[in-house]
Amino acid sequence: MIKEIAIGSSLALVIFLTWQGYNVMPVIFLAGLLFVLLRTAGLSNLLGSSRTGTVVEKSSTSRVTFDDIGGQAAAKRELLEALEFITDRDRIRRLGIRPLKGILLTGPPGTGKTLMAKAAAHHTNSVFLSASGSEFIEVYAGVGAQRVRQIFARARESARRQGGASAIVFIDELEVLAGRRGQHSGHLEYDQTINQLLVEMDGLGNDDEVTVLVIGATNRFDLLDPAVLRPGRFDRVVRVDLPNREERLAILKIHTAGKPLDPAVDLDDVAKQTFGFSGSHLESVANEAAILAFREEAWVIRQEHFVEAVDKVIMGEKVARQPRAEELERVAVHELGHAAVAELRRPGSVSMVSIAPRGGALGYVRQTPEVDQYLYSREELEEQLDIVLAGCVAEELFCGSRSTGAMKDLEQAVALAKLVVSGGMSELGIVPQDLVPASTMHEAIRAIITFREEKVRELLGERKTRLMAARAVLLERERLEGDEFRALLGTMKPGRKVRSSRRRNHRTDDRRSRVRRDRAPARSDNQH
Ligand code: ATP
Repeated sequence: MIKEIAIGSSLALVIFLTWQGYNVMPVIFLAGLLFVLLRTAGLSNLLGSSRTGTVVEKSSTSRVTFDDIGGQAAAKRELLEALEFITDRDRIRRLGIRPLKGILLTGPPGTGKTLMAKAAAHHTNSVFLSASGSEFIEVYAGVGAQRVRQIFARARESARRQGGASAIVFIDELEVLAGRRGQHSGHLEYDQTINQLLVEMDGLGNDDEVTVLVIGATNRFDLLDPAVLRPGRFDRVVRVDLPNREERLAILKIHTAGKPLDPAVDLDDVAKQTFGFSGSHLESVANEAAILAFREEAWVIRQEHFVEAVDKVIMGEKVARQPRAEELERVAVHELGHAAVAELRRPGSVSMVSIAPRGGALGYVRQTPEVDQYLYSREELEEQLDIVLAGCVAEELFCGSRSTGAMKDLEQAVALAKLVVSGGMSELGIVPQDLVPASTMHEAIRAIITFREEKVRELLGERKTRLMAARAVLLERERLEGDEFRALLGTMKPGRKVRSSRRRNHRTDDRRSRVRRDRAPARSDNQH
């Protein structure tokens, strides 16, 4: 309000002076300069401005609904239950129930926490204000606390101005604002900021004219100060997890709803291939598939666009880096090693083998898990170990030596073997990890890995001729579809028709592509 009056009066003054015949250009120039300085150098903070505009929060009435969020049924249900505190305010008041002040959404990045908060605002017809935890932290003592006060004041003011009875304050990256007290080097400022948040939350009541609900989001629940989670503050914790297969399908349907899809597109298959993807990865897959169709000047998005988009989201853009001929042969052998053992251990699991460099990898094998898996037995960990070790064992068998290309595989192999030991599944039995001497641990890990290497050597050795033939085809085509590879390995189920991959020579085209790589989700695909 004050801002509007000040701008209006200044304009009127400038018009009046011009009419009186004064030269106002120097004044306008100086005012412009001052404005630019205030915007860029944040001088308003130094000057101790108390204007609400210093908090970088966005205020709006949200248009996102719970229908725009795929999956997350349990999280949605819990959140909807909690929102009854706003929608059924009179009954809550009559029963004398303490108002719900804060809801905490926790889970991996990109799983839809912000979407949930926005949908909550839409559902309760509340004003929505959002800010990130890092926006409250400043080097100047007291500024963060002042910003916390401002956002709550602004929430009430916006709701009142829009004639609403409730406001939702959404704070993303809550761990930055509400991390454990006394742990930061400039901890006075941090502590003041979090204390102010607690004071504001404690002050929220049933009888307030405007009901304010704080929704916090964090990927690092473990870093939060316990005082924040005390009853009466963020006392509802809603877990927003990575989607399972059905949920991935639902999210894909949402993000392809307005896009022209070829009737043969099988979104269920895309959902199956995207284990470990978050909602934002899936949104990116749908978007990348559309971009690929656009580049090809196609009218509809086809299944192969989705397949390519999944690779791109996992591995990044194809790169122009061209390995030498002997390096390429080694990469082919390495990837075929992974693929062969994956196929022999988990028949039908390989969906693609590629030696097209992408992101930081020179080649990779994509495996499709039949079902999402969250627990592993010793046998399953050993299966995974065999697949991981197969790349370097194949290099040794068919190229005569190993290379540095297997370093990541070896790290993964050690981590898997360690899991066998720490899970109490090794010959050591159940042992407290921190009490096991390093040499005993080392010996146990080495024994597991050496034994598995021997098994893999036998498996690959028996299929030497077939693998050599597959290597020639892979070098020629750069990429083999799952069925093509199975036919070459001799594990194809009788009666199945092989879908051949076109010879791909997109390298020159790919040099031109400029689509940014999204974060790669955690998957067990093997990259070299
Ligand atoms: P972060 O922890 O990194 O802040 P977040 O959990 O808040 O991430 P959002 O910002 O809500 O994630 O999601 C990012 C984008 O991902 C959304 O704009 C949406 O396009 C997509 N998305 C994520 N989850 C879902 C979902 N369950 N349904 C539909 N789209 C989703």
